[in-house]
Amino acid sequence: MTDQIAGAGPEQVLAVVEQMTRLPWPEGDDWLTWEIDGLEGRTSYLAHVLPLAATSDAAALASYTSAITSLADRRWVTRYRFDATRFTDDAGTDPASYDRRSAPASLVRSLDAQDAAWWRRGDDAVVLVVGSTAAGEPARAAVLVLPVQWLTGPGAEETALRSPLVADLLSGEKDRILPAVWAVVRTRDPEVLTPLVGASAAIRTATADVDLGGALASNRWHLDHALVRIERFGSGTCLCGAYPDHQFYDPGKEAARGHVTVVGTVPNDRQWVPDRICECRDCGARFQVEQGEYHYPWWAWTEVAPARDERA
Ligand SMILES: [Zn+2]
Repeated sequence: MTDQIAGAGPEQVLAVVEQMTRLPWPEGDDWLTWEIDGLEGRTSYLAHVLPLAATSDAAALASYTSAITSLADRRWVTRYRFDATRFTDDAGTDPASYDRRSAPASLVRSLDAQDAAWWRRGDDAVVLVVGSTAAGEPARAAVLVLPVQWLTGPGAEETALRSPLVADLLSGEKDRILPAVWAVVRTRDPEVLTPLVGASAAIRTATADVDLGGALASNRWHLDHALVRIERFGSGTCLCGAYPDHQFYDPGKEAARGHVTVVGTVPNDRQWVPDRICECRDCGARFQVEQGEYHYPWWAWTEVAPARDERA
């Protein structure tokens, strides 16, 4: 493939990827070639490889691969990052200390990428590798499907502790915990939420005895809500399901964050402002949102029947 991007749209790529997990493995060092729904790929002892692009048009590659990333986030939810620069063992390494992550890392680096996004599908990992333009060479992108053990090492807790939000939530200090709580309540970003999933039990323990204060609404309640969001994200449930549980979700701000679209209004005789109808941009669920005021503004989200499905 020279200077081209696969004609397949993100939906088709993901449909092929889901079938790649059922491909056979070769004997020894052979490569197997295959075709699924018109897309061709090959399989080594390590991974099923679906080439997506080889192009010098960096902007086109970025927009194509980010569309695939968004769809994969919606479908497989938790996105991990694989840092291919960390694992550089090779044939010269003592087998006893060889880190198995060096094999996929070498494959990622061979595509001129330093790291890759990946998602878990049962016992397999789906890895999206987006290379950069090496001197004079087109940038390549590919999806790898391989058993998840190749990507996971003993360091999951260590990674979680490098997340600043995890560190804040474990700090035992009210002035660090509360801003972190609000950061969790505001975000749907998998890169932010993923490290928190593995740490949620530790966060519950570390915050159990901290005096979090709070005037009109207890800050403890906001913390509990943040933990519910983390657990919801970890279980792969859309985060819009958290709206009915908390009264501080301002639909204007949620729309500005790109989480929902305000698609209409409904008059409300009890309130100064009409109710808004909000549609989740990740899953399409619809909510009717009443806005009221009692010492501070509040919003009550109630799920309503979705519009007739016009979505693709
Ligand atoms: Zn949703």
